[in-house]
Amino acid sequence: MAQLDTEARVETRADAVLGALDDEQREAAQAVAGPVCILAGAGTGKTRTITHRIAYGVHTGVYVPEQVLAVTFTARAAGELRGRLAGLDVGGVQARTFHAAAMRQLRYFAPRVLGGPMPALVENKLRLVAAAASRSRLSTDRTSLRDLASEIEWAKTTLATPDDYPRRARDAGRDTPFEAAAVAAVYAGYESAKQRDGALDFEDLLLVTAYAIEEHADVARQVRGQYRHFVVDEYQDVNPLQQRLLDAWLGGRADLCVVGDPNQTIYSFTGADPDYLLGFADRYPDASVVKLERDYRSTPQVVGLANRLIGQAPRRKGLPELRLHGQRADGPEPTFTEYPDEPAEATAVAARCRALIDGGTPASEMAVLFRINAQSQVYESALADAGVPYVLKGGERFFERPEVREAVLLLRGAAAGGSDPGALVPTVRDVLASTGWVEHRPPAGGAARDRWQSLAALVDLAVDLVAENSTLDLAGFVAHLAERAGAQHAPTVQGVTLASIHAAKGLEWDVVFVVGLVDGVLPIAQSLSRPPAVDEERRLLYVAVTRAREQLMLSWSPARNPGAKRPRPRSRFLTGLAPDSGPTAPTARRPAKRPKVVLEGEAGELFERLRAWRSSAAQSASVPAYVVFTDATLQAIAETRPATLRELSGLPGIGARKLDLYGEDVLAAVTG
Ligand code: ATP
Ligand code: MG
Repeated sequence: MAQLDTEARVETRADAVLGALDDEQREAAQAVAGPVCILAGAGTGKTRTITHRIAYGVHTGVYVPEQVLAVTFTARAAGELRGRLAGLDVGGVQARTFHAAAMRQLRYFAPRVLGGPMPALVENKLRLVAAAASRSRLSTDRTSLRDLASEIEWAKTTLATPDDYPRRARDAGRDTPFEAAAVAAVYAGYESAKQRDGALDFEDLLLVTAYAIEEHADVARQVRGQYRHFVVDEYQDVNPLQQRLLDAWLGGRADLCVVGDPNQTIYSFTGADPDYLLGFADRYPDASVVKLERDYRSTPQVVGLANRLIGQAPRRKGLPELRLHGQRADGPEPTFTEYPDEPAEATAVAARCRALIDGGTPASEMAVLFRINAQSQVYESALADAGVPYVLKGGERFFERPEVREAVLLLRGAAAGGSDPGALVPTVRDVLASTGWVEHRPPAGGAARDRWQSLAALVDLAVDLVAENSTLDLAGFVAHLAERAGAQHAPTVQGVTLASIHAAKGLEWDVVFVVGLVDGVLPIAQSLSRPPAVDEERRLLYVAVTRAREQLMLSWSPARNPGAKRPRPRSRFLTGLAPDSGPTAPTARRPAKRPKVVLEGEAGELFERLRAWRSSAAQSASVPAYVVFTDATLQAIAETRPATLRELSGLPGIGARKLDLYGEDVLAAVTG
């Protein structure tokens, strides 16, 4: 009887997993013993299919969870996989980036294959590259050093040695920062310097792990005995180095399921090669190849825009057309808006976020996506000024953050002293307060804010758990945290996501702002001379727009700083998508050039003093001056001479965050 019950339960769980898929997705999920290849566009349920396939394999007893290794490319995407697996009640499955998986294995095998503990990691190549370049008598600056480091990374991920480099770089049409032979010399110098230090870089991590498996029969036996079922998400972005590691793991076996979208290839510049995805069926002639076309993520309005955008790309020979068919109900049309300058664009986006939050959309359901990380600063300050919580990075390796470790230790200590059921949330708050954490006062900027948010996430988690189980006590909470840490399952930090498009791959939000759409940013300036690079930039925009479930807002601003002279044209990719001259934000109606501030007498002196203070404040924070305060705000301060923080806070352009950061400085400047 008991056994029948168990069998019935297994069957219903497995059935429930399959029931959540459409016919094509189900076909892929039921093919639990690979090789399987899913080639499909954005939002068609590729990631959903692989997580359900794993759950189906586990619930039917075909897979031992610990023997499944799911890999992907970014820490965020790995977090997303883990979150979805946890939601399907599947524990024990490894979902990691290639790097994290390699790191874990190498750390374990290092004594055996390297004869000692895990070597130090070169986190940043620049120092070693600079030394190698100067030994080669190259005169370099920061940019050319960075370019040299990128070339070395490209060479290593495409498995090119220094000797191979000149030929391979020529064949690939690389735009080399120096003559190819000189780059090769720096590459060789870098490698020997690194070897002398006994260190490994990130590429070595994968290479040495692959080598350990290839060359050590006992290591191979152990790794291949541990991992029997492999899944790769976002396989269009695999590079030859990662493929080599994957092949080492497989050791000729074919229990492999890959999923990807060639239209989302966004790392070819760094060596990724979509041919591994496109050639999968040739490599494994018995593979089940599944196509998915129904887009479950986005409204038909967003899907239509995505189709038009990718329709502008030159078609690759042999590539199936991956048109998306939107399945959801209609939603609002995507909007296209021009702002006069970046601060105005950021202020408007922040105001929109604020309004949406006030209207009930959770902040965690919104994202602001940009091409390069440097763009985030102006959005960070605009969101902070509008009182909108935001997160810069996902909840990755949450439990490894120092503040979280410290907090967990303190909570564990407190739990050892006994705990009250029914008082979990206030107890957690008290314990965190002992670290200086103040609930209602998120500090401004950078590391302090990240730290505050991590601890806030722990309180939120306690609140959520108490809502499910009102008798949970501190000891139970601490046990739950340990379990989550083991499963690497971070609580969601509540806030608008600020992310580069690269980091947003695979993720989705109800509301997405894609900002900074000017030529020179997207497509990025370095790509403009090479058509394949411009195509990759178009795919990046495709990735960005397909992140939106419902509302998609695209925007740009001709000027970077207020009053800049040379306007930047809007992104060429918008031609044919946006109206010819996009609607212009109301703020653009103000005169483009503000009259130069002329203040007389004492006010004039104070204004100049404030400007001098502003430029040093801007310099020490490495931000443009207007991010500290605009001229208009300085003018208002100079005219009203506030004597207290309260008076200061009444002036335009001074939000809580600015007050915190600069209030005292400004008052000091006013009193002279
Ligand atoms: P990307 O290419 O952007 O990584 P994807 O193909 O991996 O996209 P998913 O993230 O798996 O797509 O799915 C997109 C959204 O559609 C998710 O919210 C997912 O839960 C939902 N979805 C997918 N398939 C179905 C389905 N059969 N029924 C209901 N919802 C679905
Ligand atoms: Mg996906």
